[in-house]
Amino acid sequence: MAFTGVEVHNIITKETKLESFGRHSILTMPSYNWIELTSNDVSDRKGDLLAVQPIGAVEQHGPHLPLGTDTIVAESVATEAITRFSGSVFLLPTISVALSREHVWAPGTLSLTPQTLLSLLNDLGGSLQSAGVSRLVFLNGHGGNSAILRVACRELRVQYGIMTFLAHPQLPLDQGGTAHDDAEMGFAVHAGRSETSIMLYLRPNLVTLENTAREVPEWLDKFEHIGFGKEVTFGWTSRDFGTAGVIGDPTLATKDQGELAFNAAVDRFVEVLSEASRFTFPSSEHK
Ligand SMILES: [Zn+2]
Repeated sequence: MAFTGVEVHNIITKETKLESFGRHSILTMPSYNWIELTSNDVSDRKGDLLAVQPIGAVEQHGPHLPLGTDTIVAESVATEAITRFSGSVFLLPTISVALSREHVWAPGTLSLTPQTLLSLLNDLGGSLQSAGVSRLVFLNGHGGNSAILRVACRELRVQYGIMTFLAHPQLPLDQGGTAHDDAEMGFAVHAGRSETSIMLYLRPNLVTLENTAREVPEWLDKFEHIGFGKEVTFGWTSRDFGTAGVIGDPTLATKDQGELAFNAAVDRFVEVLSEASRFTFPSSEHK
């Protein structure tokens, strides 16, 4: 289910060492783009393999951001991070269509059901086990995928013995992430300042800010226990917050903020890869 858009493909390969994967260098490069390998390449490297699985979404992102925003961000962070990571890591093809049920009311959104996504991840785990992948890091660009990915992480551990990890370019605010400031009151969970800034940095040609407006659900502040990032979560769709499809304030976005956020996400993910490559349980028989 790789994202096959030409421009995204360019992002994957442009100015990264993935582009330089000639057959002659395949065994000396520390990181590998899975879809450019042969089966023999994989079997030559079989063992304690570390793989990164970017996963995003194709869903409405207000009037100003493209449908593939989460996919573009996850793929870009993963691609850049593995070029900076000194260890050996395999980059799997991005899962771009995932779980976007909260946005299915909006034309353009493509979504699997939770059952389908869980089945897909389970099938993927079986193939990765066969290929010798023992450590798998999901880099998830869409908060709506997180709950299923947590379930999948445990299932792949139980069924295939794979050590699994779930990371995000930015931990969503409704999942324990922290806001940079209080301008959006901690309510910026979709197409707001941060996400828009990163896209202004990564793909400014796909961002149109003319018709954007502040869409911060300040009414949520009336509730002490129920809310984003609070002790009681709630089921919601983006339509519950209005017709704009935005929850946050994209008018605050700038390219400079995006560059900072993107590089911070890459730096953090490089550290995550380092930890994931050496993470182990005390009892090695349960590795
Ligand atoms: Zn998004």
